[in-house]
Amino acid sequence: MASHIVGYPRMGPKRELKFALESFWDGKSSAEDLQKVSADLRSSIWKQMSDAGIKYIPSNTFAYYDQVLDTTAMLGAVPARYNWNGGEIGFDTYFSMARGNASVPAMEMTKWFDTNYHYIVPELGPDVKFSYASHKAVTEYKEAKGLGVETVPVLVGPVSYLLLSKPSKGVEKTFSLLSLLPKILPIYKEVIAELKAAGASWIQFDEPMLVMDLESHKLQAFTEAYSELESTLSGLNVLVETYFADIPAEAFKTLTGLKGVTAYGFDLIRGTKTLDLIKGGFPEGKYLFAGVVDGRNIWANDLAGSLTILTELESIVGKDKLVVSTSCSLLHTAVDLINEPKLDKEIKSWLAFAAQKVVEVDALAKALAGHKDEAFFSANAAAQASRKTSPRVTNEAVQKAAAALKGSDHRRATNVSARLDAQQKKLNLPILPTTTIGSFPQTIELRKVRREYKAKKISEEEYVNAIREEISKVVKIQEELDIDVLVHGEPERNDMVEYFGEQLSGFAFTANGWVQSYGSRCVKPPIIYGDVSRPKAMTVFWSSMAQSMTARPMKGMLTGPIALAIKDEVEDLEKAGINVIQIDEAALREGLPLRKAEHAFYLDWAVHSFRITNCGVQDTTQIHTHMCYSNFNDIIHSIIDMDADVITIENSRSDEKLLSVFREGVKYGAGIGPGVYDIHSPRIPSTDEIADRINKMLAVLETNILWVNPDCGLKTRKYTEVKPALQNMVAAAKLLRTQL
Ligand code: GLN
Ligand code: ZN
Repeated sequence: MASHIVGYPRMGPKRELKFALESFWDGKSSAEDLQKVSADLRSSIWKQMSDAGIKYIPSNTFAYYDQVLDTTAMLGAVPARYNWNGGEIGFDTYFSMARGNASVPAMEMTKWFDTNYHYIVPELGPDVKFSYASHKAVTEYKEAKGLGVETVPVLVGPVSYLLLSKPSKGVEKTFSLLSLLPKILPIYKEVIAELKAAGASWIQFDEPMLVMDLESHKLQAFTEAYSELESTLSGLNVLVETYFADIPAEAFKTLTGLKGVTAYGFDLIRGTKTLDLIKGGFPEGKYLFAGVVDGRNIWANDLAGSLTILTELESIVGKDKLVVSTSCSLLHTAVDLINEPKLDKEIKSWLAFAAQKVVEVDALAKALAGHKDEAFFSANAAAQASRKTSPRVTNEAVQKAAAALKGSDHRRATNVSARLDAQQKKLNLPILPTTTIGSFPQTIELRKVRREYKAKKISEEEYVNAIREEISKVVKIQEELDIDVLVHGEPERNDMVEYFGEQLSGFAFTANGWVQSYGSRCVKPPIIYGDVSRPKAMTVFWSSMAQSMTARPMKGMLTGPIALAIKDEVEDLEKAGINVIQIDEAALREGLPLRKAEHAFYLDWAVHSFRITNCGVQDTTQIHTHMCYSNFNDIIHSIIDMDADVITIENSRSDEKLLSVFREGVKYGAGIGPGVYDIHSPRIPSTDEIADRINKMLAVLETNILWVNPDCGLKTRKYTEVKPALQNMVAAAKLLRTQL
């Protein structure tokens, strides 16, 4: 019985790649240093999988920034503004596309399906000249082979690639991305031929778009593409991998009818209905890659349950055609539990990160082949049982309070326009009020203070003094910049989620449970293992301290909502004299199910949870919310239904279409702050550029509802970037105020 891993995290067990990238970008280390760190990571990952006994080990799932950008590089589809002169794409061009450079902004970034991973969106138009411009897939394959590891090279499939792209500027409305298929397939053929020549016997195409609700002409494109590739693929075993949801019946038919394809990969975790399709008929002689180990969670697999499913599948497809696999790339989970020595023993027994999932896949494959590791399976069964019955998982009081919420609506009594009037009387803000999203730069010294406090190397008093000093510095800077609504800068927070999780019960924390978000950025999500409650106020101390330092309004800053716990916090902040409270819903869209049929239920639940957090405040308390970049088109009505007073959204990496979406939405009167510059890039925008952007917004949005702010928190930037950028932002707002 064979085993397979769809893909593996690149960052390294201690974020080695992140540090290597950032040091290279800062000019502190050479390209060779970066390449060396990366090669070491790849080799240790391959070795680990091969030691574990995995048969089909992926290659080319490493990326310096993003696998979709790698594909753009492979195809030579570099937008003209990066002035690339052909040849093999180097770091310069590659990282310029990813991050922008002194003269050109980055390409757009957007969420990878419903994960928190973000990919670089290819920009394609009728004039792109494709060429085989990155040999990375072949180089990685050969590199592994040189290390004695036979791998399955992984490519983003041609149809998903096009469907994940956007038409370049000027042809947005008219251009059909799929019309480029005949132009990119010749490059894919070159790559495939080269992989074959290098000795590859398997190849994996990731075609996750197959799980979406696709129109028939899009499905037809898959049929055409693989027919066209068939002759080049002959002699290879070809796996088309899908993930993240059930595959719709039509797509299943298309997939299993593809020419030249010999194996199909399915997510059997999120895709519970796919199992029925397979049972309803699976093509003779083809391989089934059964994704039974969840690539997106951190929980140990229910091995006994998986074994039951696998045994059933075996009877359908045959012993030699079933391959045990992960539900998707392990990119979306943490790397290795081995680096969590401090984690509570019981909770740890419930968990599996990428490295442990590799072992689970292997153990399942061996068990199916008649070599069941009894000790491993019974330890797993015991852990599953203890998680079900543990009292730390269930909190009576929370269960009761949550049950009592059901059925009721929870909404502020006054409508938003009347509330804004009441608030304006108190706040007295100019038109185009300026604010920021919350965090200010996190300096090395600041991180050191927090670390030392955590390690009990400095006293509470020393810690409070240090943070007070930082807050006072941030307040002064904002007053000097003449920003209207201030923030305290979040210096006490390591991370917007972790900070709250640490103070709530029901959460556990990892030391190294990082998951890549984009490029070198990772998040370390806390683990919710049980019902959540708030033992005491979490932010009131710092927020009221910050408010005491200034006469201007100070925004309280919360991450929303574990509805009931955040509601208590909102009301405590209000009592402490905080008149503006921002409840971040950075990831509201993150949870949106991929398939449309499931949207309404999720959105109702998420929006209602948000309203619960602030339905108890007075009209004069201004509730802001902030959302990071996402596609808002289809959820605008839900955003409005959140009933916030002011909505700030990340906008600067996307285009003006977002604004027209919001024009529709904000007819109901709330304030809106579409970010006026991109904080993800080190570039400092000029006053003119920002003014120009605000003008474009004013063309679409009413003057009296527009807020001026950066598009997200500033914590990852340096003061040398933040100060001039904010100075230009305020100058732009003032300039426009005089013109209105
Ligand atoms: N208040 C948070 C900050 O500024 C929001 C971050 C986010 O939306 N990702 O850091
Ligand atoms: Zn944001």
